[in-house]
Amino acid sequence: MNGRRVSDQLVETVRDRSDLVSTVSEYLTLKKAGQNFTGLCPFHTEKTPSFSVNPSKQFFHCFGCGVGGDIFQFLMKIEGIAFPEALQRLAAKAGVALPEYRPGERENPGARDETEQIYQANEAAAAYFHRSLLEKPEGAPAREYLKGRGITAETIQAFSIGFALPRRDDLLKQVGRQFPRPVLEKASLISKKEGVQGEAAFFDRFRNRVLFPIRDLQAKVIGFGGRVLDQSLPKYLNTPETVVFRKGKHFFALDRAKKAGARSLIIVEGYFDVIAAHQAGVTNVIATMGTALTGEHLRLIRRWTENIILIFDPDEAGARAAMRTAPLFIEEGMSAKVVSLPLGEDPDLFIRKEGKAGFLKKLEEGKTLIDFAISRMTETSSFKSIDDKIKITEEIFPLIERLKNKFEQSHYLKTLSETLQIEEQDVRAQFASRNSKKKGGVSAGRPAPAEGSKLPHDEETIASLLLQNQLDPSALVNQVDLEDFTDSRIRGILSHYWNAEEGRWSSPGNLNEAEAPLLALWSRLSVRENGFENIQQTARDCILSLRAKKLRRESSEIESKIKLAEKGGDLSLMKSLQQRFFNLRKELSHLTLSH
Ligand SMILES: [Zn+2]
Repeated sequence: MNGRRVSDQLVETVRDRSDLVSTVSEYLTLKKAGQNFTGLCPFHTEKTPSFSVNPSKQFFHCFGCGVGGDIFQFLMKIEGIAFPEALQRLAAKAGVALPEYRPGERENPGARDETEQIYQANEAAAAYFHRSLLEKPEGAPAREYLKGRGITAETIQAFSIGFALPRRDDLLKQVGRQFPRPVLEKASLISKKEGVQGEAAFFDRFRNRVLFPIRDLQAKVIGFGGRVLDQSLPKYLNTPETVVFRKGKHFFALDRAKKAGARSLIIVEGYFDVIAAHQAGVTNVIATMGTALTGEHLRLIRRWTENIILIFDPDEAGARAAMRTAPLFIEEGMSAKVVSLPLGEDPDLFIRKEGKAGFLKKLEEGKTLIDFAISRMTETSSFKSIDDKIKITEEIFPLIERLKNKFEQSHYLKTLSETLQIEEQDVRAQFASRNSKKKGGVSAGRPAPAEGSKLPHDEETIASLLLQNQLDPSALVNQVDLEDFTDSRIRGILSHYWNAEEGRWSSPGNLNEAEAPLLALWSRLSVRENGFENIQQTARDCILSLRAKKLRRESSEIESKIKLAEKGGDLSLMKSLQQRFFNLRKELSHLTLSH
């Protein structure tokens, strides 16, 4: 362990061994109320308790002033100290030795040795998978597959791309002998079948997949991304969260970009996008792994570059992605440029078609996140009427509001007025009235609540039930998608439950990864007293209500398309639209009947 950096693992150990309830109790009196503890908020003046602590989630939240967070944040706030000092105090109390404060002493040597072994097991597995790809007869289909995707032998070498044979326990037999079972299990290289005893209980996690080793900044293998060769599902399988791997923190190929001396970074989403770029000589491309960007991601890369380019689709989905990502950058005081490729093209395809020069030229078209969101939202066909324009301003205003720089605010208000073709003074007046309304609504002497407008009840309830483990994410599967949630704050939280790669709901690995702007809402929903009589029924009702809203949105869109088709005299289009409209209404009436 060098310098002042303390490993995340150590931070987690301190967190695990500390208790928020007893720490808070040193500053105020807490009373048990349902599943939570409540008391008078130490951060604002109040007569009735609105400060709440959830002991199982280890989160606090004040319903009066909106502050919230975990044990570190509580201590930092109440003592007015920075993170390292908060960590030091809690560690001292929990009996965890921090290396930089007690030089010459090692923290928990057993845990360190095991972590070291996990790295070694990953390294050995990567070497074995790589050999299997190059040498084994069963590796032939994988070699063909990579060749078909235009990947050269040098690239396979450079990224040590590998292949897991289509056998149940190949890795276990070949590499497994060198490592204890618990190490392989903790590295998530193998899994254990429930209810089976002995050796037969274990099997390889990755089978019949092309594998990309994921490395940390020291180029140590921390996990793998695996792709199937055919159409089977899931298309991509990543190492789940382990002691050494967290997808909300690591990037694929960041080690290589850093080694290549990258002065800027281009963030994409897929392994093949990264590989195609590097192969073409663009070596500053990195990828997230099936997760949205997090604050932790940004803090990791801003150490050596603030020049970041993101690639989003050139449609409404891309605009939404930009709006979700913008607060993150604003919060971290960073900026990013957004580039889009022609619809339906990913960087892999684009680079293979246009080459390095074409790709670099494209990158010059970068727009800021907010400019991109504004222009995409206005260009997509569904935003034309005055209602739609109002809707856009309502979505963009909160982003502009977060900007600390008045000139920047002014720039975007101007852009907004130009692209929406609304008088600039009207936009400014609307923006100003929105601000004063918010300030006027809160009694003097209190900080403004962290959240702005009211949350849709059904979306808020689902998020809260998920956060409190009262609802399993599988209940949402095939019912609603992430995009069906209309509130961007709720989407931000639920994105941790959404596997974007596979388009499905799943349990998040680490719940303490809330991005800073969402933290207050996150903590509030985590400690909120739900008190529903029948949780399952409530959840079902909320899901139904979301589905119904989605169907209504779709049917009103189709309705306006029917009118257009009618005007244009396109009878066959009209007929097919009417059929779709009819089907939607039928589904909707079923929903409301069963409701
Ligand atoms: Zn408070």
